[in-house]
Amino acid sequence: MTANAKQYCDELYARVVKRNANEPEFHQSVQEVLESLVAVLDKHPEYIELGIMERIAEPERQIIFRVPWADDTGRIQVNRGFRVQFSSAIGPYKGGLRFHPSVNVGIIKFLGFEQIFKNSLTGLPIGGGKGGSDFDPKGKSDAEVMRFCQSFMTELYRHIGQDIDVPAGDIGVGGREIGFLFGQYKRIGNTYEAGVLTGKGLTYGGSLVRTQATGYGLVYFMDEMLKAKGMSFAGKNVLVSGSGNVAIYATDKVHQLGGKVVAMSDSNGYVYDANGINLATIKQIKEVERRRISEYVKLHPTAEYHVGWEGIWTIPCDIALPCATQNEINEKDAETLVKNGCKAVGEGANMPTTLEGTRVFLERGVLFGPAKAANAGGVATSALEMSQNSMRLAWTFEEVDAKLKTIMVNIYKNASMAAEEYGHKDNLVVGANIAGFIKVAEAMRAQGLV
Ligand code: GLU
Repeated sequence: MTANAKQYCDELYARVVKRNANEPEFHQSVQEVLESLVAVLDKHPEYIELGIMERIAEPERQIIFRVPWADDTGRIQVNRGFRVQFSSAIGPYKGGLRFHPSVNVGIIKFLGFEQIFKNSLTGLPIGGGKGGSDFDPKGKSDAEVMRFCQSFMTELYRHIGQDIDVPAGDIGVGGREIGFLFGQYKRIGNTYEAGVLTGKGLTYGGSLVRTQATGYGLVYFMDEMLKAKGMSFAGKNVLVSGSGNVAIYATDKVHQLGGKVVAMSDSNGYVYDANGINLATIKQIKEVERRRISEYVKLHPTAEYHVGWEGIWTIPCDIALPCATQNEINEKDAETLVKNGCKAVGEGANMPTTLEGTRVFLERGVLFGPAKAANAGGVATSALEMSQNSMRLAWTFEEVDAKLKTIMVNIYKNASMAAEEYGHKDNLVVGANIAGFIKVAEAMRAQGLV
């Protein structure tokens, strides 16, 4: 290996840090990708000459806007809205919207950057983008959420379109929010452009399986990865952090495959149920009542509730599926999981493991499914929703589920083949980054300096 590619990556990383001050999550995601790409850039110096990574690391466009709205008491509130249109090399910008008080430009950039490679890995024609707001839907009435969404879309609508940029959900943005956003887009544009948003309700252009897709896809991916090593979910104890859409449907699929999810969490704490988590109860608490997970033990008194979500990683398990948020597993948590017998980790959330935590898993031989590959089922099914919208027809649950499964199996195959080809056998972090990158790089090469 020449020093050239490594030096290029180090220098580019330093420039990214300097140019994007105070955005540690974005730096982290860029660092991980650059470390993975040294071997590719070494073999293909033309990617360096064409400035491919230099260009990918800079969003094509970033939009930051004011979102004024009135709460139920009539008080005026102002939030900040974001849309980062990162890469249109292989298709219209595509990626979710996150509504959470922690949202800032650095968070949206890390998510948008990840989305470029993830979307490429799906094999479908979608570019990378992400957006959101520091608005907190927690504790807000439906009417407040609606007014916020309408105000947010009143600015966002001019930047999106079914062939331009197609948002969807992420943390804090589910079916309710997508409905309000779609209604406002339709009203402003006076056009029924179903493909402008994904994650829509089934009555107005949504796709079957989209709700389940990220969680189901994660488990399909992990199942393929386990199978390659002669393992399966059957009879395994599984930890699933979070209790949102990804966590709920990951748990559902683990149970279908004969595994037992023994713990789930929210931002206040976690529940441990040695009998296996009762998913109907979690759905009732989280999706219907929108309450805290601590309610679970009232209905299941033999289960335990513990304050502090971090504690979930101290429970012995065979498989861990972090499905809550970024950097929820650090080096110490990773050490604890390995010490307690964890054999496989699948990232349902975006970048839930720190770089140091990931290193621990890889060095200790834990099977590790990185987010870009393992959680790509959500956005892949969004792309299937776009296809159905364009064709003005709807596939059955079985049809979409079968396509999702095939996509996840192919992502696993492509990532593991790329890892092997570039001398990092079984390292799917490197494999996913390389496989995702090459398609984008080739599209950029073909399209000239844009
Ligand atoms: N927010 C999801 C993700 O992180 C889905 C995005 C989409 O469907 O566009 O990939």
